[in-house]
Amino acid sequence: MKVLVINAGSSSIKYQLYDMPQANVLAKGSVERIGEEASKLSQTCGDKTLTKEGHVADHEEAMAMILEALVSDQGGAIKSLAEIESVGHRVVHGGEEFTGSTLIDEAVIASVEKFCDLAPLHNPHNLVGIRAAMHKLPNANQVACFDTAFHATIPEVAYMYALPYELYETYRIRRYGFHGTSHRYVARRAAELLAMGKYDVNVITVHLGNGCSMAAVSQGRSVDTSMGLTPLEGLVMGTRTGDFDPAILFYLADKGYDIKQLNTLCNKKSGLLGISGKSNDMRNLGKLAAQGDTRAQLAIDIFCYRVRKYIGTYAAVLDGVHAVVFTGGIGENSPEVRAKICGGLTSLGIDVDAGRNRGMIGSEGNVSTDTSRAAVLVIPTNEEQAIAKDTYAIVSGTEQ
Ligand code: AMP
Repeated sequence: MKVLVINAGSSSIKYQLYDMPQANVLAKGSVERIGEEASKLSQTCGDKTLTKEGHVADHEEAMAMILEALVSDQGGAIKSLAEIESVGHRVVHGGEEFTGSTLIDEAVIASVEKFCDLAPLHNPHNLVGIRAAMHKLPNANQVACFDTAFHATIPEVAYMYALPYELYETYRIRRYGFHGTSHRYVARRAAELLAMGKYDVNVITVHLGNGCSMAAVSQGRSVDTSMGLTPLEGLVMGTRTGDFDPAILFYLADKGYDIKQLNTLCNKKSGLLGISGKSNDMRNLGKLAAQGDTRAQLAIDIFCYRVRKYIGTYAAVLDGVHAVVFTGGIGENSPEVRAKICGGLTSLGIDVDAGRNRGMIGSEGNVSTDTSRAAVLVIPTNEEQAIAKDTYAIVSGTEQ
């Protein structure tokens, strides 16, 4: 079965075509800068590459361009669109309603629409991608895979905020958590690497990319996570604050900041960018710090310190930790960040081997010492593969 995985953002659609159940990638690509003058499609299929430039007005046009590229004589992967039996969509917010991936029908679309005000930067674009795919591939099964779903097992004691209870009853204000597809993928993969059952492992999963989050996974199920009602809470991120005293907002409101400015400040101007004043990108900050830029160094130090604090918290939440798992662009590729986070955690049973850690860049393996109580695993995440597998499982009626 050919499964097309779609990740639709505000100005881009990323996609991968899978042959299931083997999970072979037949083609992958993206359309970037949708709505701008110079939009661009790039696709790779084996050793063939395909690029197309020009104005792409909206997601509907982008989807048409993608489908054309997939069946193209030059660099395409399939002969006919009828070969695409199913489409798996990444959807960021599934509220309390979706505890797993699901076949999309009008009721599911209405729910995703309902959660747009909880994820205004993501759900509307995910929906546009779903509608475009339904329109262009009317005979394909459409499946939604929610970033929030893996965290549906978080208990009330961890998901409730200490706000008046009516706010939960009226607005469903609570912790939802995100990056769930990534946390689930690496937790399952960690169980395989540790030769344990997927519902036997206790792991702390650390997803460090442009967005960053952690999860405490007890016996294969998420029991706490660092992101909250929105993806703003928790770790320091590229441009987001993570945890901070909400009274800072009242203070700034008193000084004349309006809601829009505060929103931009917290989501777009803070984090690594805000502290360093230079960049949201860890690679750049590493270079700047090496040249003696003290603010870049401070940004890296605060970033690592926050992760370290959460590891301690989640070690307290879990009854024993089999592994700490690093993933995401930073977690997979930066031995320096991993070393800074884990240094001096031997009292928690976490001991990184310097040589193994240095050698693990963009690949999968254990970087802990032989005597470390917990393994320290680096696992490149693969959310697209997880979505393809869920989609295949739902459509074929096999276990997810
Ligand atoms: P992602 O959102 O998962 O693509 O991750 C993006 C982040 O990963 C950016 O902050 C990049 O600077 C960071 N990153 C990618 N490669 C490296 C690397 N080799 N060393 C440090 N950070 C990296």
